[in-house]
Amino acid sequence: METAEIRRRWLKYFEDNGHAVVPSAPLIYDDPNLLFVNAGMVPMKPYMLGQQTPPWPRATSVQKCVRTGDIEEVGKTSRHGTFFQMNGNFSFGDYFKERAIELAWGLVTTPIADGGYGLDPDRIWPTVYEDDDEAFSIWTQKVGVPKERITRRGKEDNYWNMGVPGPGGPCSELFYDRGAQYGPDGGPAVDEDRFMEFWNLVFMQDDLSQVRSKADFDIAGPLPAKNIDTGMGLERMATLLQGKDNLYEIDEVFPVLAKAAEMTGRTYGAKSGAAAGQSHPDDVHLRVVADHVRSSLMLIGDGVTPGNEGRGYVLRRMLRRAVRAMRLLGYEDKALPELLPVSVERMKASYPELETDFARISQIAYGEEDAFRRTLGAGTVILDTAVTKAKQSAAATGGGQATLAGEQAFQLHDTYGFPIDLTLEMAAEQGVHVDESGFRRLMQEQRDRAKADAKSKKAGHAHTEVWKELRELGATDWLAYQGLSTEAKVTG
Ligand code: ATP
Ligand code: MG
Ligand code: MG
Ligand code: MG
Repeated sequence: METAEIRRRWLKYFEDNGHAVVPSAPLIYDDPNLLFVNAGMVPMKPYMLGQQTPPWPRATSVQKCVRTGDIEEVGKTSRHGTFFQMNGNFSFGDYFKERAIELAWGLVTTPIADGGYGLDPDRIWPTVYEDDDEAFSIWTQKVGVPKERITRRGKEDNYWNMGVPGPGGPCSELFYDRGAQYGPDGGPAVDEDRFMEFWNLVFMQDDLSQVRSKADFDIAGPLPAKNIDTGMGLERMATLLQGKDNLYEIDEVFPVLAKAAEMTGRTYGAKSGAAAGQSHPDDVHLRVVADHVRSSLMLIGDGVTPGNEGRGYVLRRMLRRAVRAMRLLGYEDKALPELLPVSVERMKASYPELETDFARISQIAYGEEDAFRRTLGAGTVILDTAVTKAKQSAAATGGGQATLAGEQAFQLHDTYGFPIDLTLEMAAEQGVHVDESGFRRLMQEQRDRAKADAKSKKAGHAHTEVWKELRELGATDWLAYQGLSTEAKVTG
């Protein structure tokens, strides 16, 4: 089933069940805690928090999401995109746990011929929060799922809160058993690749008086009005219904991957992985290209432009990573003019504005690739000089291993925007090592400085989420740009 059809069926099902269909909010949303909308409930927050009266008791949407924290997963796991669409259904003080579970089960197990997704009910493994006997008994008694297939999970996995006093509640998630070729049996607690999470049901029922961390909070009592917030990954459902290994192979993403493979002369999936259970680096690069090109398209479409801070830096990094991945696959010409139009072709059915706005979008993307090519050009000269010197001094001191100092790698990174893996690879091509731990030490020092700086500027709660997100970006080069303060992140 095509992604567009999965989406259409979703909206129809929930509309038929009395939900107002709400269009996706843009990725940039007026929320000081977020770089980008990262869940379907973000635009619904004022209703969930009781700050505004919802215009409808029930709503449904297909929300565009970007999770920058997942960037390092892309291409390595089977299920993480930086951009994805979250299908949601919401109840504001209307139906609650039992109806939410029934609705979810109904849609996914109704046969395809009857308008559902036709998943095999015997392969669905729900989880519930450890204390949530109510959800457990709805699954076992009302729905009829055997209790062996239900995992009880703790606060880390199955309790939702916002990190601040206010609403919270247990979750119940749906996982699908993709079969023995994907990993060991035993449910999601054993293997989250074989058992793929596709839907999270959040039962907002508790009023939290204190939240010290995700898993450490005090419940003051029940919420006066209980809400339902669910999120089903559209791409994950497409992966399942299209019988694909991973979400980079679905109809909305794969054509870009195929184009990149054609341009680089690589055959996707042809080589076995370097280590057991891992993908070959070529395949990972191709998936990164497909994912990042699509995410960049969606980000520019929603008004983000490349920059050195905040949202602009996220976009810059995606575009550069895509271009870099193409280079690592041996393609050195301009790549985006070949790739971006392929992505638009796939995405325009759901987002026609991408096509009408393509002149602007493509100009921004191609301009960034051109700028990066110049950066690469300048950095390459510096790198080559440093490599030659390293070789000379190694020869002068008796012909030992030539090594590029950590300071040089850091300078290349910091001044020329040269990512460390590029430095490593290009140095290695010339037989030169890089003092990588020296480089990482300097990066850490810079991060510490940035953090101390941010702390002294502002320690307010509103900014902690953003910092958390920043930290989760994880990559060493992420924070390297100077002047990165929390304020800059927020207003980006
Ligand atoms: P995972 O554990 O796989 O990282 P999650 O628990 O972080 O997922 P939720 O926050 O529960 O995800 O989001 C609700 C749903 O959105 C998930 O069940 C999944 O279907 C989908 N989803 C979450 N993150 C991604 C992503 N990076 N790419 C595609 N779909 C996603
Ligand atoms: Mg996640
Ligand atoms: Mg999860
Ligand atoms: Mg989840």
